[in-house]
Amino acid sequence: MAVIIRIDVDRPYGKGPLVRHLLSRCGSDLYFPRVPAFGYLRELDQMLRMLGEHDARAYVFFRRCSLPNERLREVLDRGRHEIGLHLENSRSFETFQAERRNLENYIGQSVSSFSKHGSGGEKYGLRHYAPYEPDRYVEWAQKDDMRVFFGNLEDPTIEPRSTGRFSWFPSAFWLEPGWRDQQKFSVDWLLRRGKETDIVLLVHPENVFEDSELTADFRKIVSTLESKILS
Ligand SMILES: [Zn+2]
Repeated sequence: MAVIIRIDVDRPYGKGPLVRHLLSRCGSDLYFPRVPAFGYLRELDQMLRMLGEHDARAYVFFRRCSLPNERLREVLDRGRHEIGLHLENSRSFETFQAERRNLENYIGQSVSSFSKHGSGGEKYGLRHYAPYEPDRYVEWAQKDDMRVFFGNLEDPTIEPRSTGRFSWFPSAFWLEPGWRDQQKFSVDWLLRRGKETDIVLLVHPENVFEDSELTADFRKIVSTLESKILS
């Protein structure tokens, strides 16, 4: 039994100083600068390095404005991580397909897993369609021959479902405490649970590396539990 590591890459330049903050706004994807000097995807890079130290593999979900540059592609390939879509424009089956194809064209390989940006409510970014409608995504995913969907519910005890080759994880253990009932679901709880059953751990690199306690929690989890990619 294992932890299924889900990394949602929301912010291309993290939260840091003003220039990185402005670059992180994801306003336009006509031309998006992926500049290593400003720390493009720096926190993701740190996270992948840490996973590498513990031989752990993860699902890494990208938005249009957080696509990996060539150097990160190498790191992702070397670590045998799975690249997936962090769905923003979930207005229709057509917009879902368009985002999938855009990512596939960019990375030059097919993508079979996805997660959804935002859990309903606020709109984050120009192309973001805010409602959270997991039943529709599950239907589209099967129609478009995807393999895995990761949902945003916050009760990590909800059982995954599967039909044929398609699996759906409705919820995750959110490492960042704002989205987790910390009394019921502590990191120690996760460490116990991950020995009995597969459980999804959801992280956002820019949050984990902003807070040294979260960084330590993340390291503890990936060094204690086996990680898993569904194939
Ligand atoms: Zn997101």
